[in-house]
Amino acid sequence: MKPQRLRAIPAVEKVLVALGELALPRPAMVAIVRRELATLRQEKAIPDVAAIVARIRVALDRLGRSRLQPVINGTGILAHTNLGRAPLGADAVAALTTIAAGYNNLEYDLESGERGGRARYLEHNLALLCGAEAATVVNNCAAALVLMLRHLAAPPRPEVIISRGELIQIGGGFRIAEILAASGATLREVGATNRTTVEDYARAIHQETALILKVHRSNFFMDGFVASPDPAALAALARKHRRPLVEDLGSGAVVATETQAPIEHERTPVEALKQGVDLVCFSGDKLLGGPQAGIIAGKARQVRALKRHPLFRALRCDKLIFAALEATVDGYLNHRPGAPGPNAMLDMLRTPLESLHARAERLVAGLTGLPLDAHIGDGHGQVGGGTLPRSRIPSVTVELAPTTMNLQQFAARLRAGTPPVIGTLAGNRFRLDLRTVFPHQDATVMRVVRQVLTAPDQGGR
Ligand SMILES: *Cc1c(COP(=O)(O)O)cnc(C)c1O
Repeated sequence: MKPQRLRAIPAVEKVLVALGELALPRPAMVAIVRRELATLRQEKAIPDVAAIVARIRVALDRLGRSRLQPVINGTGILAHTNLGRAPLGADAVAALTTIAAGYNNLEYDLESGERGGRARYLEHNLALLCGAEAATVVNNCAAALVLMLRHLAAPPRPEVIISRGELIQIGGGFRIAEILAASGATLREVGATNRTTVEDYARAIHQETALILKVHRSNFFMDGFVASPDPAALAALARKHRRPLVEDLGSGAVVATETQAPIEHERTPVEALKQGVDLVCFSGDKLLGGPQAGIIAGKARQVRALKRHPLFRALRCDKLIFAALEATVDGYLNHRPGAPGPNAMLDMLRTPLESLHARAERLVAGLTGLPLDAHIGDGHGQVGGGTLPRSRIPSVTVELAPTTMNLQQFAARLRAGTPPVIGTLAGNRFRLDLRTVFPHQDATVMRVVRQVLTAPDQGGR
C-alpha cells in the first residue's frame, strides 16, 4: 500500500483554520471544504495537507470571484450584457442611496394618508419623455413583451402577425418566436426574410388576428434587396382593422443618437408613437442608461388594462428600480442640449476622440519600464446590448503585448486583478478600448497591469 493512502484527510475544522483569512461566509466555506474533501476521498491518492489546503483555496477563490463585483470594461461595448449593461448616472446612484436604507412612499399617498398607486411619479414623467398618453414599467423588455402578448393575444383572437425578417434571437435564449409561444400567442409569419410589405400584413389580417407586432432588428442588419413597410402605413392598416400595433424597440434611445456620436439614428418611442404605434416597449438598461426595466408606453386605455392584468403583479419592479429609473428619466427631462449628461451612457457615447487619445498617451507613458510593448491604436466601440448593430463608434485603444507571458495568461491575470480588467484579444495584442473605461479608472488600470507583470505568480492580486 502506498504511504500517502494511509495518511488521513484533515478535518473540515483544520482546513478552515488554515484558510482563516478568506472573507467568505463561514457556512459557504464549510460547504466548499466538505465538497472538496468528499471528492478527495473518492480519489485514489491522497495528497499532503498543504496540497489539500491549496486545492481547497482554489475552489474557495473560484466561489469568491463569482460574487458580484465591479470590473473595468475595456471592451468598448457600452451596454455590455455580460458586464451589467448601462452604468447608472450619479443622480440614479444618489437616488438609490436615499431610498434603499429606509421606508418610503412606494404605495402610500402622502396626501390622503392611505394606500396609493405605485410609481405614479415615474409613470407620469416617463409618459412625457416618450410622448405617450401613459407609461408603465415591468422587470425587463422581455417581460413587457410577454405581458402585452398575454393581454392582447388570447382566444378567440390568439394570432400575432409578424414579419419573417423580424423573428429574431437576442442574446442567449431570447427568441421572439419562443416568447410568442410561451405567451400563448399563435405566430402568423408574413413576408420574406428580406422583404415584407404592407400588403403582406393586410392579407394576413382576419378574424383571429390579435395584433401586429414590429420588432427592432437589434443585433444584426440587412442590406441589399430589402424592404419593410412604412411605419405610418402599417399603423393606418392596424387602425383600419381596429387591431393594436405593438412595437418592441429594444434599446430605448430617447435622444437623437446621431447627434451624440457619428452613428446612425435609432428609432425613438416618440417617433413610433407619433406614427401611430399603439404600444411600444424597450429596455431601461440599454441606451436609456438606467436600471434593468421594461418600459411600456402608449395608449392610456391599453396601459391601464395591462396594469390590471394578473401577470403585471408578478412582473412588477421594486422600489430600487423605481428610484433609479425616476432619476434617469428626470435627468432627460431636465437636460439642456450641449450640457454634459444626462447619464453615464450618453457621456461615454459623446466623449471626443481627442480626450480618449490624451488619456491613451498618459496610460502608455505610465506603463514604460514594464516587460510589455504598449502603444495606441484605433478602436471601434459599440453600443451593444442589441442596439445599433451597424454603428461602430470611433474610439481609441491601448494595445498591450507582454513579453514575459503569453496573451491568454496575461488576459486571465488581468481578469483576476482587483478589480478585474476586461479587454479583448486582437491578433497578438490585448486591447483596452478607452471609451468604456472611466477616466478615474486609468490609474487603476495601470496599477493592475503593473501588478500582473511584476508579480506573475500572484495573478495580479
Ligand atoms: C434587448 C432586447 C430585448 C430584451 O430586453 P431585456 O430588457 O433584456 O429583456 C427585447 N427586444 C429587443 C428588440 C431587444 O433589443
